Amino acid sequence: MYALLEALSSVLDIERNDISGCLHKIVDNSNMIYAVMLYDSVAGGAGHVRRIASKDGQAFAKIVRKAIDITKNCTCSPSCYNCLRNYYNQKIHDLLDRRLAYQFLENYDGNAERVEN
Ligand SMILES: [Zn+2]
Repeated sequence: MYALLEALSSVLDIERNDISGCLHKIVDNSNMIYAVMLYDSVAGGAGHVRRIASKDGQAFAKIVRKAIDITKNCTCSPSCYNCLRNYYNQKIHDLLDRRLAYQFLENYDGNAERVEN
């Protein structure tokens, strides 16, 4: 989630503190399903996160690629202020592992498509 937020900020030139996210998990038929939710943290929303959902999926694909680049090309272990850490997530710095982040994200590298609800 933090890799995606850093990438979103970088790729779409959004102030990092204007976007945020949370993790959600649900149990469905005894399967654990995790969701990453990204949202605008500015009052009323600025439409930043909505820009990920381009019709051709290119914006999301580009953000995933950038998130992989950020986490894979850093040299720290397990994370640092150049990849996943920031002032706001300091309570969980020890849990943020850039290697786990890019290993997860690489499953989503490639073409993406927008699903209409
Ligand atoms: Zn790092």
